[in-house]
Amino acid sequence: MEGALTARDRVGIQDFVLLDTHTSENAFLDNLKKRFNEDLIYTYIGTLLVSVNPYKQLDIYSKKQMDIYMGVNFFELPPHIYALADNAYHTMLAEANNHFILISGESGAGKTEASKKILQYYAVSCPSVSPMDRVRDRMLLSNPVLEAFGNAKTLKNDNSSRFGKYMDIQFDIQGEAVGGHILSYLLEKSRVVHQNQGERNFHIFYQLVEGGEEDLLRQLGLESNSQHYSYLVKGQCANMTSVNDQNDWRTVRNALSSIEFDNGDIQDLFGVIASVLHLGNVQFESDNKGNAKLNNSAELRWVSTVTCSYVLLSNIFTIQVLSPFTVDYATYARDALAKAIYGRAFTWLVNKINESMENKVTLGDCVAHYFIGLLDIYGFEVFYVNSFEQFCINYCNEKLQQLFIQLTLKSEQEEYEAEGIGWEPVQFFNNKIICDLVEEKHRGIISLLDEECLRPGEATDLTFLERLEEKMGSHPHFVTHKLADKTTRKTLERGDFRLLHYAGEVTYCVVGFLDKNNDLLYRNIKDVMRESKNAIVRESRRPSTAIFNNLRVLLPACFMCTHTPGRFDDSLVLHQVKYLGLTEHLRVRRAGFAYRRRYEVFLQRYKPLCPATWPHWKGLPADGVEVLVRHLGYQPDEYKMGRTKIFIRHPRTLFATEDAFEI
Ligand code: ATP
Ligand code: MG
Repeated sequence: MEGALTARDRVGIQDFVLLDTHTSENAFLDNLKKRFNEDLIYTYIGTLLVSVNPYKQLDIYSKKQMDIYMGVNFFELPPHIYALADNAYHTMLAEANNHFILISGESGAGKTEASKKILQYYAVSCPSVSPMDRVRDRMLLSNPVLEAFGNAKTLKNDNSSRFGKYMDIQFDIQGEAVGGHILSYLLEKSRVVHQNQGERNFHIFYQLVEGGEEDLLRQLGLESNSQHYSYLVKGQCANMTSVNDQNDWRTVRNALSSIEFDNGDIQDLFGVIASVLHLGNVQFESDNKGNAKLNNSAELRWVSTVTCSYVLLSNIFTIQVLSPFTVDYATYARDALAKAIYGRAFTWLVNKINESMENKVTLGDCVAHYFIGLLDIYGFEVFYVNSFEQFCINYCNEKLQQLFIQLTLKSEQEEYEAEGIGWEPVQFFNNKIICDLVEEKHRGIISLLDEECLRPGEATDLTFLERLEEKMGSHPHFVTHKLADKTTRKTLERGDFRLLHYAGEVTYCVVGFLDKNNDLLYRNIKDVMRESKNAIVRESRRPSTAIFNNLRVLLPACFMCTHTPGRFDDSLVLHQVKYLGLTEHLRVRRAGFAYRRRYEVFLQRYKPLCPATWPHWKGLPADGVEVLVRHLGYQPDEYKMGRTKIFIRHPRTLFATEDAFEI
């Protein structure tokens, strides 16, 4: 009977830890579904936030909502991305430490949207002293700019991030945002010259061509029609209804001005973008000896206005040292140059944005004391044909999962053991074995690939594959085409190998692995770039990629996709629940403890609540804590005493203790 349903039956449980049925995947799915059907997309597993993409606008991101979450204890309100952001912020200030918010999930799950919501929350909720508003505005404005240059339509997501982004937001001792810094890594440069069917190049190209002002386009020699450019039509979907390139152009253009890109910068930047488009239209044909010769000099002249002399430029495509190139080689060299200069433009852009967000401490200004780091990488990808790009992306996700396991499942259980708390270990799949398969020194796939790249002329993609088969053939997560028939139902082609990732199996085609890993430019192309008139093309500073170091306090958030607005796809969500290891996580959380504090810290904070410990406790801190919690009425099953810390099972116990201060 409908009316007999309790609210709990209808909307599910907001924290999986409180789910009283067993922790099976089906119970998990059922709870997510109930909530999703009520437009409740967020659910906790302790302090981990799980989100299911609604693919429709919900009225839950207003200023009013932000106000509700500000400074309120994590578990007192319904789960929300704002609660996660607020918790990181207040714990950072209270405990004087840095925090990281790690966002994972597959492509289209909503990771980038979530990271923007977090940033917006800080922009609105943190205290501010006027000049610092500048920093905040810039942090927010950096988003549309980076997305224009680093995001693209893919088959999975119309606005898919094609680079990894780590951003830290720096705060002073009062909690005011005083600066920010972005690290970008693994930009998918191959997209500049090639897109699969149904996919687009990076947004900025279409924005410029479709939305650029007449004067600007004339100056750059561009036509106002993306169909005209061969690099923009490879996926045959240059114009898409879900994106308004003209509006987006205006947003990006205004954002660039606001983050103080001057006219010279803008000219340099769009000079590079335009020259990539011109390059794409440079064509070669075979002369009667089979050598490449240019058949469209007008486009190359435009490129030369941005880069270097026409003669030099045309030579690099047609003459290699003293022997001429074939048409294929010439085209390859052309694409290599296009990718290289776009890559440089992106690096330059990130550096410029960083300069504008820098915390420039002058007398009287505020010093950055803490930071909150936000990690948003592109999600795990499986396509019909998977190449080097997917290999890099999926490896990156594999590392992220490893980090997640280490910082939650593994360290959590290790701590219980170290503290001597009676603990029944929870089994979980540790994907370290897959990370090792890829990255181990001298033995992993990357090492073998690097070694093959050091044998120019001899090594090919296929010799690389042979070495893989020879060295990895018996690894439980590696499948060669030779064994595929025996081990799995699906056969592999001659040039393929398969990895059994934590998130599922992916078949990679080795074609292009060596070239893409090399990312080597012919020396003469490098020379041409060094001679360029354009500062962006000339410079080659590389961004740092060291992001996984020094992580201390981590708040994970997992995102899942449903693909259709408002429709909960059971099998799709179940697959993600499985590969994110959420039920294992839940089991650790349920059996574990939400809070832990060193005895000294706990005693120092709560000793005023008990006459026996106030103002001074003379004995051992652990004994003082025992006296204190007994006085506060903690039940034996609510806490455990470890070697150096007290462990408290439920947050509500600690909240009640906090509230005792106010009484
Ligand atoms: P990728 O790995 O491809 O970069 P992603 O996880 O970053 O994917 P997003 O770009 O954040 O995915 O989200 C994809 C789309 O889903 C968004 O463009 C938006 O339409 C929708 N979406 C994401 N989060 C929400 C949300 N909280 N509410 C409504 N729609 C959302
Ligand atoms: Mg994204």
